[in-house]
Amino acid sequence: MNRDLVIVLDFGGQYNQLVARRVRECNVYCEIYSYKTALEEIKAMNPKGIILTGGPNSCYESDSPTYTVELFKLGIPVLGLCYGAQLMQFLLGGEVKRADVREYGKIEVFVDRSSRLFENVLEKTICWMSHNDYIAKIAPGFRITAHSADCPVAAAENEAEKLYAIQFHPEVLHTQEGTKMLKNFVMNVCGCAGDWRMDSFVEESVKAIREKVGKGKVLCALSGGVDSSVAAVMLSKAVGEQLTCVFVDHGLLRKDEGDEVAVVFGPDGPYDLNFIRVNAQDRFFSKLAGVTEPEKKRKIIGEEFIRVFEEEAKKIGAVDFFVQGTIYPDVVESGKGGESETIKSHHNVGGLPKHVDFKEIIEPLRNLFKDEVRKAGLELGIPENLVFRQPFPGPGLGIRIIGEVTPEKVRIVQDADAIYREEIAKAGIADGIGQYFAALTNMRSVGVMGDERTYDYAIALRAVNTIDFMTAEAVDLPWEVLHKVTSRIINEVGHVNRVLYDVTSKPPGTIELE
Ligand code: GLN
Repeated sequence: MNRDLVIVLDFGGQYNQLVARRVRECNVYCEIYSYKTALEEIKAMNPKGIILTGGPNSCYESDSPTYTVELFKLGIPVLGLCYGAQLMQFLLGGEVKRADVREYGKIEVFVDRSSRLFENVLEKTICWMSHNDYIAKIAPGFRITAHSADCPVAAAENEAEKLYAIQFHPEVLHTQEGTKMLKNFVMNVCGCAGDWRMDSFVEESVKAIREKVGKGKVLCALSGGVDSSVAAVMLSKAVGEQLTCVFVDHGLLRKDEGDEVAVVFGPDGPYDLNFIRVNAQDRFFSKLAGVTEPEKKRKIIGEEFIRVFEEEAKKIGAVDFFVQGTIYPDVVESGKGGESETIKSHHNVGGLPKHVDFKEIIEPLRNLFKDEVRKAGLELGIPENLVFRQPFPGPGLGIRIIGEVTPEKVRIVQDADAIYREEIAKAGIADGIGQYFAALTNMRSVGVMGDERTYDYAIALRAVNTIDFMTAEAVDLPWEVLHKVTSRIINEVGHVNRVLYDVTSKPPGTIELE
């Protein structure tokens, strides 16, 4: 594939995925690699530009992440962000020190508009800062192109060498003109064409898969979620009858969801998937009995999923390729793509069927963000109601039930969630909410119903708005909707006597409860 590539070198910062996203929003293809990636490897990829991310360390300390100074001598434009900026200055002979004043939050920055990076940017522009160290002296050959009240070097550059350093975070939306600055870098400085688009991605992928698979047999694990659905339909476009899709119903899906998946992807639906449904509910429940620790639950569900899948695969016999709907954030959040800390293990990454006889894995969405997967889904002609389905975690309701998972608790959370979704839809506010669901807190408390003492569960309702699922805010749901949902849940769902609304943002919370 002949396309412009920009590489993000990950130094462990929190917003590194956002950097790649913003670059792709400029229609330039971008991938994240660890700072441990060798220079030779980077050269071989022939990138048009390299972006060094932020990170928690101080570059002047001996055990901090670093890179060979040769990186800056390749003639490839480099943009350092925050830690990346400090490291660039430090390695090239500048000075980085701990600052007297830590800068954090939205800060007014004054930029020199003659810089190619700041073309069409306001002279006084709001930027997001988050640093303790600062560039005390710039490296030889550089000039200062931005400053703030507390930060003498908010940006510096060596235009001739195409090296740019910025102390703030243009990838965070709080930096009002951040996307413009990144666009200036990839277009003006790196000279990217900006012609990477979803229709060409889908077309190229289908073609590449067809070539790779040849006459081979393909097996796909279908969960019914957006990612695996898009992967399955892409494969069916590419290889048709050679594909078999196995849907493992682990009993932790939303109410009636297993049946809905079977209707759309089964033999009566519009796709050619050779769809097989495995009803494995009991197996999952017995494995989960007595387990309360969230990471352990995730692992058990992930592993059991693979075991069930393996057994099914054995019945099918040897296949050549195995397809998974892994997407980019799964790869990065599992610590496989870059350097950020593992927050949650992911069922799609690392755990693979060991005894299934296949030659190779195909992960056609491995490099896409969620919204890009949706665009690909639309390109493939998948109906909008499926494509814009709310994200649902692989371990399903298993991680929306705090503590032990039992069939009874699953029933409670399914029923409560169905009521919640129904009322949100009725109120006509579904489109304005990023994600919403009911969860079971595992907390029981005393109540009174029909003059009788009850000792039952509390349901937590969650509704968040988020642009990219990296950060999220709780939604201001109308009181009348909350009241209606609460009274219906308490009346209609047995063993619930209390409903709570979770107003925690992410961070410090996560969107899911476990
Ligand atoms: N750790 C560095 C500092 O405190 C860089 C911070 C960052 O990249 N956000 O200045």
